[in-house]
Amino acid sequence: MRLAILGGGQLAWMLALAAESLGVSVAVLDPSPEAGAGRVADHVVAAYDDLVGLDEVSAGADVVTYEFENVPAAAVTRLVEHGVPVLPSPRSLAVTQDRLSEKQLLAELGIPVAPHAAVDGPTDVETALAQVGAPGILKTRRLGYDGKGQVRVRSADELAPAVAELGGSGLIYEGFVEFSRELSVVIARGADGSTAVYTPVENEHRDGILALTIAPAPQMSTNLAESAQAAAIAVAEALDHVGVLCVELFETADGIVANEIAPRVHNSGHWSIEGAVTSQFENHVRAVVGMPLGDASVRGVSAMVNLVGGVPPVAQLEAIAGATVHLYGKEPRRARKLGHVTIVAESAELLAVPLGQVRALADAAWDA
Ligand code: AMP
Repeated sequence: MRLAILGGGQLAWMLALAAESLGVSVAVLDPSPEAGAGRVADHVVAAYDDLVGLDEVSAGADVVTYEFENVPAAAVTRLVEHGVPVLPSPRSLAVTQDRLSEKQLLAELGIPVAPHAAVDGPTDVETALAQVGAPGILKTRRLGYDGKGQVRVRSADELAPAVAELGGSGLIYEGFVEFSRELSVVIARGADGSTAVYTPVENEHRDGILALTIAPAPQMSTNLAESAQAAAIAVAEALDHVGVLCVELFETADGIVANEIAPRVHNSGHWSIEGAVTSQFENHVRAVVGMPLGDASVRGVSAMVNLVGGVPPVAQLEAIAGATVHLYGKEPRRARKLGHVTIVAESAELLAVPLGQVRALADAAWDA
């Protein structure tokens, strides 16, 4: 079997490592000659809309997948026209590329979302305020990531200037959700409709970037866990999704509120390499090449700490009990994810000390 991946960053790298152990060979398409997945996969250096590059990466591939949701529609069309299956399907991409269609799908499925309104010009400001109120957050509907393309709106008079700041159209204004914490659920779904759902996890952000994931989310009631997992299953089924997806959620006093869907392997699922029986990467590969899904059960309690902007001394990280270091081979740069550390322990009590040690090192190196 041969798998082509659009994008050659750290997600593609970890997908390629998983594919290799399943006997699946990998080619990636990425415009950067330094793309990390090139360390373990064939690498076509070309833009995502380069027709020659697309033909080259997909030649001989049984299936094409992607590591980011902003794949140009033209690229997918080209692949589909050439009869190469693209999984997850173009529908999963189309719905999740736009925050508005994403929220509409969630709402149709009965999954609570923040009050929201589309803003496509100054004349929509009044209507949006009437529907949503303030405070809120104005976001670009497309191409946002890690908190980019977003402006906090503290009071009603801040919305019009925020709309101008974000380019005036193609925006969504959301009511501000008073949440106690952020959670996410990763799910893998096969073409036969089988699913492997990971435990809901708790996520902590710093500067809009994921800093820490704890799996399972601590102090989670059965109700909360079930509603979070049910939301992920409903989304995957509604999209007829094949592969991994992640639903990001807020926990509020009234239960969960869904924020975003990522139609791909997700940073909040990295813990699963060591912390689950089958990782999200292996299950994504299994799903898209048509192998049976693996068991998503946890092995103990895990924490994943991102290394952002700077890498702490690796020998110090590796000396910490239960810690595994993953480095993406990227040059340090502000706000750039350079690697992550996973710590697995038998209980939350046993996780606390090594997690504190890893966090102290990662915090000191963050954008240092
Ligand atoms: P997003 O790009 O939608 O994941 O947003 C980035 C971060 O902004 C989230 O992880 C939340 O911390 C925060 N955020 C986004 N939308 C809302 C909202 N409607 N209410 C409160 N906080 C939000």
